[in-house]
Amino acid sequence: EQEELDEDDENLEIRPPVVTVMGHVDHGKTRVLDAIRKTNVIDGEAGGITQHIGAYQIWTEHEGNERAITFIDTPGHEAFTAMRARGADVTDIAILVVAADDGIMPQTVEALNHAQAAGVPVVVAVNKVDKPDANPAKVRSQLTEYGVVAEEYGGDVMFVDVSALRGDGIDNLLEAVLLTADAGLDLVANPNKEARGVAIEAKLDKGRGSVATVLVQGGTLRVGDPIVAGTAYGRVRAMIDENGDRVEEAAPSRPVQVQGLNSVPRAGDLFLVTEDDRMARQIAEKREAVERNAQLAKARKRMSLEDFTKALEEGKVESLNLIIKGDVSGAVEALEESLLKIEVDDSVQLRIIHRGVGAITESDINLATIDNAIVIGFNVRPDTKAREAAQREGVDTRFYNVIYNAIDDVESSLKGMLKPEFEEAQAGLAEIREVFRSSKVGNIAGVIVRSGTITRNAKARIIRDGVVVADGLAIDSLRRFKDDVTEVRTDFEAGIGLGKFNDIQIGDEIETIEMVEKPRD
Ligand code: GDP
Repeated sequence: EQEELDEDDENLEIRPPVVTVMGHVDHGKTRVLDAIRKTNVIDGEAGGITQHIGAYQIWTEHEGNERAITFIDTPGHEAFTAMRARGADVTDIAILVVAADDGIMPQTVEALNHAQAAGVPVVVAVNKVDKPDANPAKVRSQLTEYGVVAEEYGGDVMFVDVSALRGDGIDNLLEAVLLTADAGLDLVANPNKEARGVAIEAKLDKGRGSVATVLVQGGTLRVGDPIVAGTAYGRVRAMIDENGDRVEEAAPSRPVQVQGLNSVPRAGDLFLVTEDDRMARQIAEKREAVERNAQLAKARKRMSLEDFTKALEEGKVESLNLIIKGDVSGAVEALEESLLKIEVDDSVQLRIIHRGVGAITESDINLATIDNAIVIGFNVRPDTKAREAAQREGVDTRFYNVIYNAIDDVESSLKGMLKPEFEEAQAGLAEIREVFRSSKVGNIAGVIVRSGTITRNAKARIIRDGVVVADGLAIDSLRRFKDDVTEVRTDFEAGIGLGKFNDIQIGDEIETIEMVEKPRD
């Protein structure tokens, strides 16, 4: 997609190199970037205040021409690798800063490795040559051990002695960057098309909303363009350069801060101008979906079914299969995501074979029977048929009202510990067949006990169509005919008062719970 539009040779124009400054901490990366910025030959125009927008461009004299160079204004290889991890290769040349008094240090080597891995040529800035103990020759000889051989030693890497503190040698450094660019890199782009590039840095600004610094890699970006950057989209409302000046357009290798996106993209996100706003939004939404799926797949660590079956046969994995049902889709999703994030040994697999909203049904139980799955009900219960089927088939059904408890329990199961030794169990279940309205003592439920025993003072909850609609109640009064009783058994009728709680309907179920010791496997 990126290449095809550039093929038209007639439109290709030389673009400025994009440079990242890397090196060991305290070797002077920030100073070098400051010193370079001060050399700008067309600096000091009216109104400009130096801004940190994540990148800047300077102009310098080179062989009689004015040439631009773009610098990424975040020194170090962390930003460089973070962007590469997102698939963005923005850097053409790396300046490796090495303090002449300190020599090669661990991060010097690390930075070099990153540049080499990315195939980015290096220019070495031997810094702090003003220091009395500076030894620039030693830096050169040390680096040959890493395959970086200076031109004066017959190699192809340019070394430049500089003092960022005094500003000495900075012009030579820029010269070396341009020579390196012209020597081997074919830095061209087509400015006559819709822009594309990379977001370098972005933030949420109180007054201006989302502000994102983008580096144009091809085409020309203009105010008013509809764009998408990562999963953010919008129209370019305004563009500001590194001097805080408004600009109307940005050509290849030009970094500009863009306003008008609906959210904040991440460093390394690719941006492109689209035909219209609708398309920008569509691309953003598609990217978001792809990202979400990738995240889920990653969290799931799921093997293909074939791999899984094979591993199972070889005894390499044990799996815990789950079916998740919940009262609302948000809860099901949240539970699923949290469960999939549980970190366990690689030999144990967590598979969520089915998820859905609503009461646990007979088909859920059938599926659980086939796949030997545990059914998790979050704020939902099995309907009558499902309850019978689960009992008949011996399907493990577990109910939770707090996501954390579900996660904790599953985690324990996965780790083979079954940590909570007590769990909630149903003590009794009663079906409401009549509701007696009473303003004095609260409504009374005329029930028949369907299973277990209902006990006075027991903790209770209301289930309507398989979904828990009220929890944390207590059986306040329990009567058979006119008599107060302490318990009512299966198949007997009773009158139940739930204190001030009045929201009961015919057909609701009252479930009472008790804590029982968990059976150990
Ligand atoms: P960074 O961590 O690589 O960004 O390093 P800095 O740019 O923050 O510089 C680290 C320290 O070295 C600071 O105290 C600078 O003033 C000092 N420094 C940087 N460049 C030079 C230089 O050319 N000469 C001398 N003497 N000190 C320098």
